[in-house]
Amino acid sequence: MTRIIIDNLSHKFGSTPVLQDISFFVDEGEVVCLLGPSGCGKTTLLRIAAGLERLQQGKIIIGKTVVAEASSGINLPPENRGVGLMFQDYSLFPHLNVRDNICFGVGAGSPDRQAWVDNALSLMDVKFHAESFPHTLSGGQQQRVALLRALAPKPRILLLDEPFSGLDVTRRASVRKETLSILKDTGVSTLMVTHDPEEAMFMADRILVMREGRMIQDGTPTEIYAHPASPAVLNFFGTINTLSSNVADGQVATPLGNFETTDLCNGDAVELFIRPEGIQLEEDGLNSFKTVEEEDIGKSTKQSFEVVSAQLLGNVSLVVIAIPNRNKEPLMIEARMPGNFLPDKGGRVTVKIDPNQVFMFKASKDN
Ligand code: ATP
Repeated sequence: MTRIIIDNLSHKFGSTPVLQDISFFVDEGEVVCLLGPSGCGKTTLLRIAAGLERLQQGKIIIGKTVVAEASSGINLPPENRGVGLMFQDYSLFPHLNVRDNICFGVGAGSPDRQAWVDNALSLMDVKFHAESFPHTLSGGQQQRVALLRALAPKPRILLLDEPFSGLDVTRRASVRKETLSILKDTGVSTLMVTHDPEEAMFMADRILVMREGRMIQDGTPTEIYAHPASPAVLNFFGTINTLSSNVADGQVATPLGNFETTDLCNGDAVELFIRPEGIQLEEDGLNSFKTVEEEDIGKSTKQSFEVVSAQLLGNVSLVVIAIPNRNKEPLMIEARMPGNFLPDKGGRVTVKIDPNQVFMFKASKDN
């Protein structure tokens, strides 16, 4: 069974630690995404796994082979690790045509792999371009060629670094779908780097969320989205509304209503997060709802709030509402409504909150 295991890996550039105590595995046939902001160490981790960067601490096992181990000094070169690599710039050989690019790592004595290449060329719709040179291809076609080149030698593990970042938005969705389908058809274990949460959600069986050189959560896309382990993971999925409060009688009172908590203790200071897509607004019957007053905070559920701005962003509308906040400046809360929902600026809307999109964490200076 081919899987990759990264065990207790740490890495420094000079005296600066860039990866700390990283341990995870990619199981046979799994697509695992390393997700994290720019500079958190994703590419470095991929390069160490590939053997392009020397391992400093920890161990890497591919299949049954220890390919790198700091304590024993084992460090197999990239070509002996059985990894397929694809970088964001595709790195195609400009002087080789499409077929020769794809067959580069396939020996002439591997007729079955040559046949695989022919079949893959037809399936991926680049057969027509087999004799073309890379610079004459579109970005999407170059991406397919790079993917096939990485897969052609039948690697034990495929490592992909931001494989869709060079494509425009309209092309990206279809290329992702096609790529996932070929990865699942070939059954290759894949470790992919991305900073795009939507991409990770679409591609991954499991997502490893990274921050500042550390792994902060390992879970399925649903687990990561529905049960984020920390505010840092939550923040990664885009803007989030943050409210501060305290627990009293198992409840957290906020200007947007009361929320129950079973995990936090009475008296705890709490950071409460609400995703913009978890706030549903309504324009109807505005006047039948009373305006929130300071003494209502934490009590009323049927309040109306002032619309500060409303913008159509394509398939969603971004609406900002002002929430009275005791003696301080009003809180600006963002809601994302599906489709075209553009209430007038200065108008009033009522608010309904999806409890599944509310997250509470004990307040901490690290949040
Ligand atoms: P991005 O998404 O922007 O590519 P990343 O998460 O892949 O970011 P890395 O490229 O792994 O992050 O970089 C991690 C940190 O290590 C960064 O601060 C980067 O500047 C630094 N770094 C990367 N390569 C080197 C190097 N060869 N020498 C010194 N520092 C480096």
